[in-house]
Amino acid sequence: MAASPGSTSEGRRSTRQRSTVRELVSESEAFLSAQEIHHILRGRGETIGLSTVYRNLQTLADDDVIDTLRNEDGEVLYRQCGPLHHHHLVCRSCGKVEEIKGPAVERWADRAAEEHGFTDVSHTVEIFGLCPACQAR
Ligand SMILES: [Zn+2]
Ligand SMILES: [Zn+2]
Ligand SMILES: [Zn+2]
Repeated sequence: MAASPGSTSEGRRSTRQRSTVRELVSESEAFLSAQEIHHILRGRGETIGLSTVYRNLQTLADDDVIDTLRNEDGEVLYRQCGPLHHHHLVCRSCGKVEEIKGPAVERWADRAAEEHGFTDVSHTVEIFGLCPACQAR
């Protein structure tokens, strides 16, 4: 294997890999794990390592470009969602996702934080269940 020609080319490569990861996430309706994303990219002939996929997903999530969700097994999943604050209703059988609003949750979270003198708060509320199609199965 040839030596890397330098940091400029490395930078271009990582930018390209980030947009590849980002495009794949935006194509998917369902939340995907880093392993699943890596598997799909490898299946398309991309030479990208799992750790690179993880790193790019983390950066995209930190920049609020993509949304994250922790499933019931504690695994982090990724998806491109709407721009506004929302919660997820997730089918644990087929992975179908509804973006839901929870004004009562927002008020409760704000009030709870305020009562205890907390500022700069955030919260995570996800609901898991069986969607209508999976109940019918
Ligand atoms: Zn979301
Ligand atoms: Zn379902
Ligand atoms: Zn909320």
